[in-house]
Amino acid sequence: MLENTGNEIFNFASEFLADAGKNVVIVPHENPDGDAVGSAIGLAQILKNSGQNVYVLSPNDYPDFLKWFSSEIEVAIFERERKRAKKWLEAADLMICVDFNDAKRAARLEKEILAFSKPKLLIDHHPNPVYFCDYTVSETAYSSTAELVYDFITQIGFEKYLDHNAAEALYTGILTDTGSFSHNTSRPNVFKVVAELMKFGINTDKIQSNIYHNFSAGRMKLLGYCLNKKMEVFPELRSAVISITKAELEKFNFKPGDTEGFVNYPLSINNIVFSALFIEKEGLVKASFRSKGNFPANAFAKNHFNGGGHVNAAGGESKEDLKKTIRLFKQLLVQYKHQLLETII
Ligand code: 5GP
Ligand code: MN
Repeated sequence: MLENTGNEIFNFASEFLADAGKNVVIVPHENPDGDAVGSAIGLAQILKNSGQNVYVLSPNDYPDFLKWFSSEIEVAIFERERKRAKKWLEAADLMICVDFNDAKRAARLEKEILAFSKPKLLIDHHPNPVYFCDYTVSETAYSSTAELVYDFITQIGFEKYLDHNAAEALYTGILTDTGSFSHNTSRPNVFKVVAELMKFGINTDKIQSNIYHNFSAGRMKLLGYCLNKKMEVFPELRSAVISITKAELEKFNFKPGDTEGFVNYPLSINNIVFSALFIEKEGLVKASFRSKGNFPANAFAKNHFNGGGHVNAAGGESKEDLKKTIRLFKQLLVQYKHQLLETII
């Protein structure tokens, strides 16, 4: 199942984890999403159950709608808990990076990751990985890192350490990275892994509710405002864009995670195959891209917004101001007209 992963990696992991009492630190990417948090906590719980001391170190905080896990794994937020993080990093025997393909994606933790001198293992499903770890598990066919974590731990004989709490976290990763099983679900393995996780009695209705029915009123109003006032649709280019200024975020009491998913809405419009969301941040504009079919959002993000990601879900940033960024984006759409019109969905 893990087609790109050599036996030396499984051998390393099995041998390294054979003795209990090792200190393992697990790192998700900056602005961690459901898959990053779910994979990190799920894997941490499994390794903890096997007798290791495991900590999750996140570059920055993650949204409240991901803060209900049954697992009691210790999580430190590097941005505001430097001392605790440093202590963990100094004591760690192994670092496992999850759900990112380049140390840069860990942003403020990048330096610490690169400087970490003990073994580093990467488990990820994004295309075009940078080999910044000693051992790289890069499997782009997987829907999510969480699905991949399940197969990886099974491969090294650790499935016996799965429990309810680990299953709940891994399920969350799969659920969120597939948009509630609406994309990246063409491989039967996704459902096979889900079926295995279900055996631990996880409450999938509750998980769905915790994640998707847990928004603040401000977030819902911001979404309504964006769709009504800020969405521009270009049917002749099969594209749409939404932009949000800092002032607008403040007006709606923005909290991290509030704009999660906004970029997907325009793709529900008939015949739209490419959607972009630009958000004004301190000193830069954050870009999110979503596409359907074979239009490569990741190549678009890489070529024009210093980013990357998956074919249908990518992101990047712009150092120009918001107005200029949108102007540039619209010019790019015209350049991509042919490819947009030719996109097969
Ligand atoms: P989102 O739009 O949800 O922030 O990100 C969607 C996907 O795009 C992520 O899973 C990640 O793969 C990728 N991505 C987002 N932002 C960046 C970025 O700044 N650089 C790169 N290389 N990838 C990004
Ligand atoms: Mn992922």
